[in-house]
Amino acid sequence: MSGFIPEEKIEEIRATSDIFEVISGYITLNRSGKNYKGLCPFHHEKTPSFIVSSEKQMFHCFGCGQGGNVFSFLMKYENLSFPEAVLSVAKRYGIQIKLTRDDKSEKFVGKKEILYGVNSLANEFFKKTLKETSEGKAALEYLRKRGIEEGSFKDFNIGYALSEWDSLVKYLGRKGYSEEIILESGLAVQRENKSGSYDRFRKRIIFPIFHINGEIIGFGGRNLDDSLPKYINSPETLIYKKGESLYGLHIAKERIKTDNCCIVMEGYVDVVTAHRFGFKNSLASLGTALTEKQLRLIKSLTGNIIFIYDADRAGINAVLRAWEGVLKTGLCGKVVVLPEGDDPDSFLNSKGTEDFKALINSSKDIGEYIIDRSVEGYNLSTTSDRSQALTKVLKVLESVMCILRLADYANYLVSKLGVKEEFLYEAIKYDRKKDITFVPLKEETRKIQLDSLEVHLIQLMLTSKEVATRVFDNISSDDFEVPLLKKIAIEIANSIKSNKEFEPNRIMNIMADEEVNDLISAFLFKSEDWQDIEKAISDCIKQMQKRKAKKTLNNIEDELKLAKGKGDENTLDKLLEQKYKLYTFLKSTKFLEN
Ligand SMILES: [Zn+2]
Repeated sequence: MSGFIPEEKIEEIRATSDIFEVISGYITLNRSGKNYKGLCPFHHEKTPSFIVSSEKQMFHCFGCGQGGNVFSFLMKYENLSFPEAVLSVAKRYGIQIKLTRDDKSEKFVGKKEILYGVNSLANEFFKKTLKETSEGKAALEYLRKRGIEEGSFKDFNIGYALSEWDSLVKYLGRKGYSEEIILESGLAVQRENKSGSYDRFRKRIIFPIFHINGEIIGFGGRNLDDSLPKYINSPETLIYKKGESLYGLHIAKERIKTDNCCIVMEGYVDVVTAHRFGFKNSLASLGTALTEKQLRLIKSLTGNIIFIYDADRAGINAVLRAWEGVLKTGLCGKVVVLPEGDDPDSFLNSKGTEDFKALINSSKDIGEYIIDRSVEGYNLSTTSDRSQALTKVLKVLESVMCILRLADYANYLVSKLGVKEEFLYEAIKYDRKKDITFVPLKEETRKIQLDSLEVHLIQLMLTSKEVATRVFDNISSDDFEVPLLKKIAIEIANSIKSNKEFEPNRIMNIMADEEVNDLISAFLFKSEDWQDIEKAISDCIKQMQKRKAKKTLNNIEDELKLAKGKGDENTLDKLLEQKYKLYTFLKSTKFLEN
C-alpha cells in the first residue's frame, strides 16, 4: 500500500511511536480509566466521546465512529496520504527511512514534505544571516532595543532577510532546489518578464510560521523602518493556508492546555514579547480576524480565549468579526481593552508583568464588550438614540443561539440601556420573528449496519492469533458475505500465514483503508465482554457453517428445479446425491434443528 516503505519499517515506526503523545500534540486529552478522553476533532460535540488507548495504540470516536491508529489519525487530521503520515511519524521519532534517489521524487515523498524541506533550509539561512552579517547585526540591535534577545531568537527561530535581491534564491538553488519549487514555496517571486525570480522577503526581520506539528509552513517579514507595508506574509501555498494557522501555536500549545486558556494577539512581536514576560499561552491570528478554523484549532486545546487587540478601530472590528465563530465553537471569549495607543508589546515593555496580569483579570466577556462598542456614541438618555442603539444590539445578538447566554446578555442590556426586562424580551422575540425555537446544536452521529454474526467473528479473531487460527481451521474468509468484513477476514488469514506477530495495528497498516480502520478500532474499543469466549467462538463457527450449508442446500434445490424442467436425468442424479449427503451432514451435526 505504501509503495516504497517496506511493511516491516512501517510497523517499526508505528511501534516506536506513542499514539497518546502524537494526538495530544493536537488536542487536549484527559485520563479516563485506562484510556484518554477528549473532544472529537472530526465532528462537533460538547461532551467528549473521542477515546485514545495507549494499550491498544488506537483511537476511536463513539460519536462519529471514526478511528484507527497513529497513521489514520494524521491522515484524517492533517489530510495526509498514508506514506505522508508514515514519514511524518518517522521524522518525529527520528527514524531514518533510506530513500533511493527515485523515492525522493515528489511522487513518493509528496510535495508537502519537499516544501517543508525548503522552508526549513530557508529558515536556517535567515537565522545565520541575522547573526553573521553586518546587515543582520543592525536588525539584531533593533530587536535588542525592544528587549528581544537570545532566548526569543531560539524559541521563535527569528531570522533576517538581506536587502539583496536574490541571496536566498541563489542559496536554495545551490542546495539543489529547482526554481519551480522555490516559487511554489512562496519564498521567491517571478520577475515580470519571466526571466528568473527574486526573493520575496528582503531587508526584513523574519518570523517563521510553524504548524502545530512543528513544521515551518510560511514566514512573516517585518520592516525595520516605517516604510510600508510594515508586515508581509508568505502567500498561500500547498502547506500555508490563510486563516488556518496561528502564529506561536506550536510553542504555546502545552501552556494553553495547562492554563486552560489561550491569549490571542495581533502581531508577531506582541507574541514574542508576551512569551518573554511569561505569558506563554499567547499566539497571534496572522491577519486581523480569527476564522472559524482557527477558533476550532484553539477549541481543541482549551475552551477559554482572551482577545488582546490594539485599541484602534481595526482591533475592535477584529473582535466583532470573531464573535460569530466564538459562539459557533462554544468557546468562552473575553476581551482585554488596552489603553489607547498601546499594543501588548509596548504595554509589557513599559508597565511589566503585574500590570499586564491586572489587565487580563479585568477582561470583559466578549458579548458584553460588543454590546458596549455597539451602543458607543449614542446618548442613551434620549428615547430615539436608545431605540437606535437597541436595534443595533439586537442585530448583534441574533447570532446567540444559546438561550442561557442570551438571558445573560439581556440582563446586561437592561442595566446598560435602562429598558424594562419585559420590553427587552418582547423586542428580542419580535426581532427573531417569534418563530425561532432554540435548538441545541445537533451532535452528528454515524451508524453502520453490519451482519452481527460476521462482526462477532471478526471481533473474536482480532483478540488473538489462537482464536483466529481456530476460526480459519473451520471456515474460510470466502464465507464472509459483507465485502468490508471479508476484506478484513482475508487480511487476518494472511497475517496468520505470514508467521509475523499478530497485531491489529499491522493489519490496519497493510490495508490503509479509512473505512476498515474505523471498523477495526470500533471492534476493539467495543469488544464485547465475552462471558464465555470458548462458547462464543464455537457458536459463531457453527452459525457460519450452518449458514453456508443452508445456502448450498438452497442452491442445489434451485439447480434441481432447473434440471427437472430440462429433463436432464444425469444432472438430476448427481444433484440428488449431493443433496442427500449434505442433508445427512446437516442432520448429524444437528444443524437442521431449529
Ligand atoms: Zn467524532
